[in-house]
Amino acid sequence: MRIRFRNGIEIDCGDRLLLDPVRTLRDVPSLVSHAHSDHVPKDIGHPSGRVLATEGTAALIERRYGDGTVEVIHYNEGIELGPFEVYAFPAGHIYGSAGFLINCGGKTVFYTGDVNPLGGLTVESPARIPSSDVLVVESTYGHPRYRFPDPYKVRTDIAKWVAEEVSSGRSPVIEAYLVGKSQEVIALLNKYTNVEVVVSERVAEVSEPLKERFGLQYTTSPEGPHVLVTHRARTNGKARVTGWALFSKRREDFPLSAHADFDGLVSIVMGTNPERVLTVYGFSEEFARWLKKWGIDAQPLGGEWVEL
Ligand SMILES: [Zn+2]
Repeated sequence: MRIRFRNGIEIDCGDRLLLDPVRTLRDVPSLVSHAHSDHVPKDIGHPSGRVLATEGTAALIERRYGDGTVEVIHYNEGIELGPFEVYAFPAGHIYGSAGFLINCGGKTVFYTGDVNPLGGLTVESPARIPSSDVLVVESTYGHPRYRFPDPYKVRTDIAKWVAEEVSSGRSPVIEAYLVGKSQEVIALLNKYTNVEVVVSERVAEVSEPLKERFGLQYTTSPEGPHVLVTHRARTNGKARVTGWALFSKRREDFPLSAHADFDGLVSIVMGTNPERVLTVYGFSEEFARWLKKWGIDAQPLGGEWVEL
């Protein structure tokens, strides 16, 4: 078996398998880990090969890109794709997000996708990471300066800010990524405040598949004092909710992340003790360097084939 990171992650075991490819290929199955646009193939509307994802991811893809070209793979259920046996595990990153355990010829590779061991209010479960021979781990925040505060505290900070704004007669605006973070913000506002949550049309559209399951309460037409959740706001005093806000000095920037932070990534690696670690996305070089310092066989996965 061999692996490289070119058109997404490509695994070759006689036949090929693509993980989060940029483009699908004829006669090659593609697995999509979650519905963020940088993980969904550009040709998802008319793919050349089979595309598989969890039910949640398929529903979100349908909302964003139109109909049903995605086949559903259920969590914890094995399926065979040519020489590969594949299992999906919850990744805790956004609704529907999955990591994939891939077995070919007795060797196992686990691809985390974007992953959050702590989970959130609008995911099926915190991440579950199985043991594998080879771990392909995301490293978006694979640098030790990224250590996030307790998400419970960040959620209550957001709720407090919203309550203060509303009691001062303002209608606060929160900007959050369209898929995942907006729904997480709606859920936390529902849970920690009594303020009416108003969302943009776009956010409403994408939130629909999660609405019933997570009991999300929101409207698109405000009746009184409210908080607006949108993925694009021009307002000056808007709040922003993203892991990248970690070093911001603005009081209205809240570092609520859907990814593992540095310690979270380290615990994923240490907890599963793979023979070999391949890092992808973000600080892939740095994270591999740190792991190597601790005696772990790690390298960033690049465009050249790596024999497994
Ligand atoms: Zn993502």
